[in-house]
Amino acid sequence: PPDVEQLGRSTWTFLHTMAAYYPEVPSYAQQRSMKTFLSTFSQFYPCDHCAEHLREEMKSKPPKVESRWALGKWLCEIHNIVNENLGKEIFDCSKIDERWKDGPKD
Ligand code: FAD
Repeated sequence: PPDVEQLGRSTWTFLHTMAAYYPEVPSYAQQRSMKTFLSTFSQFYPCDHCAEHLREEMKSKPPKVESRWALGKWLCEIHNIVNENLGKEIFDCSKIDERWKDGPKD
């Protein structure tokens, strides 16, 4: 079976980076595609119990796809729920561009 920690780190990197470069003003087609992607992702993520939790969370917190900002914030909050469940530190969602797009200010 996959290494759940390694897989998780790589996957969060991919997901947060994708959200950071999602259009500021996505077309309806892009919004629909992102919704479909996330739903499909939650069905095939190769850690069964992780995917199950994710699908459960997505029922009460459906993906926000109307803007880059909304998607980034939604994903940050979903990741924080996982962090909380695993006893990890909660991430400050005002820092997602610094972490995943622009890098630290100097
Ligand atoms: P990670 O949590 O992998 O985070 C990587 C980096 O992202 C951090 O170093 C930090 O810089 C940044 N970051 C942290 N929090 C946020 C945030 N909220 N927003 C933006 N950036 C952030 N593991 C389990 O054991 N059980 C599970 O049920 C489980 N569910 C998962 C569900 C999904 C969808 C994914 C992608 C992973 C899941 N994992 C699960 C794996 C787990 O979340 C971690 O990836 C893994 O434990 C490695 O943790 P880490 O400390 O290296 O940091």
